Amino acid sequence: MSQRTFTIVKPDSVEKGNFGKIMARLEGEGFKVLAIRKLQLSTRQAEGFYAVHKERPFFPDLVKYMTSGPVFVAALERADAVPHLRSVMGATDPAKADAGTIRKELGESIERNAIHGSDSPENAAIEINFFFPTSELF
Ligand code: ATP
Ligand code: MG
Repeated sequence: MSQRTFTIVKPDSVEKGNFGKIMARLEGEGFKVLAIRKLQLSTRQAEGFYAVHKERPFFPDLVKYMTSGPVFVAALERADAVPHLRSVMGATDPAKADAGTIRKELGESIERNAIHGSDSPENAAIEINFFFPTSELF
């Protein structure tokens, strides 16, 4: 069944000119882009977005990284969108990601790992809502 997910093309990817490559890969995987926007996250937005990690030792660095430059946020749709995006992204640590995944090919480190993908349909809905009103999803 068709499902929605949410992605962030992270600052390292935008900086290195990998945005087009990542979107081409996602379209090639059958994802429809319902909405997309370029923006630079504020500290407050990044802290809110990754609030589940606020007690982790890497949290301050994560917020610094995610606010370090512009990102693209996008709402995506496809069959099994959430698990499929996670499998195309690969493991959090690019060194441990499977060959052919976006993080293996384009990620620099466990922190600068190229792309975000929602971890559940419930969180996908929350994350899409955070950036896009329903009227902007096509
Ligand atoms: P994302 O939520 O960005 O899709 P993920 O679900 O694979 O990534 P999470 O555990 O949710 O991984 O961590 C969120 C982000 O925090 C990671 O993508 C990475 O940028 C950063 N991160 C996670 N673990 C570490 C770590 N041990 N050291 C440094 N940064 C980390
Ligand atoms: Mg996560």
